[in-house]
Amino acid sequence: MNFTLKNNLEFAQFNNLSGFPELFHGVATRAGGVSPEPFSSLNLGNNTGDSEAHVQTNYELLCRALDFDLQTVVSSHQVHGTEIAIINTAPARSMPFPAAHVLDGYDGFITSVPNIPLLVRVADCVPVIFYEPDSKVLAVVHAGWKGTAGGITAKAAGLMAQHYQCDTKNIRAGIGPSIGPCCYEVRQDVAECFQKTMGNKRFLMPETEENLFSLDLPEANRHQLIESGLAPENIEMSWLCTACNSNLFFSHRGEKGKTGRFALVAGLRS
Ligand SMILES: [Zn+2]
Repeated sequence: MNFTLKNNLEFAQFNNLSGFPELFHGVATRAGGVSPEPFSSLNLGNNTGDSEAHVQTNYELLCRALDFDLQTVVSSHQVHGTEIAIINTAPARSMPFPAAHVLDGYDGFITSVPNIPLLVRVADCVPVIFYEPDSKVLAVVHAGWKGTAGGITAKAAGLMAQHYQCDTKNIRAGIGPSIGPCCYEVRQDVAECFQKTMGNKRFLMPETEENLFSLDLPEANRHQLIESGLAPENIEMSWLCTACNSNLFFSHRGEKGKTGRFALVAGLRS
């Protein structure tokens, strides 16, 4: 990833997605916003305890930096599930974003329609972006341990292939800043559930204390992409742990739940 400053706002971009003029994307950092502690300062989460006015201003700063229309943004009340919405039309809003999410219960979105930015909010969960430049199909996903165990990243790649006839070998993907195995300790019940649905134990490392494991979510998502047919060289990892870098990104675990949300946003230009 590389970090860019535009209109006084810093955001990160994947190198493998920066060369397509029809695509914009960015991962917001926590810097440059107006929220006070513990949401300082670019908090993009509306159900965090921060004031709605601050969150609204932060979204306006983000959309000015990345140059997209806040009114046509698609996001959802995320539920750590595996539902992915196929987006064909811009949302009709009665209230301005982010007060109105439009959707409820989705943790991923796909579109081939320009000027409909897709946005997922995170603070330790894995934000994943997909782009297939020949058919110009874009997807974003929010993958925490439940979504990852449920295979949401593989599901997004599968939908791009089945619904949009994308060649999976040609899909570029970026796995954004999230909690790393260095900081993600899970108990036996989570480990068992993860192992059962992923069918694989290699993302879980036993710790010295009994019944504790470290879970490698970014690697589990990368594995799903490769199993789905993506070329390893087309997958870019950020390798940034949110808990190790809570000065740069919000981290739910690293800050014991009292924190904001950052976002991955991406869209096609007409
Ligand atoms: Zn870490």
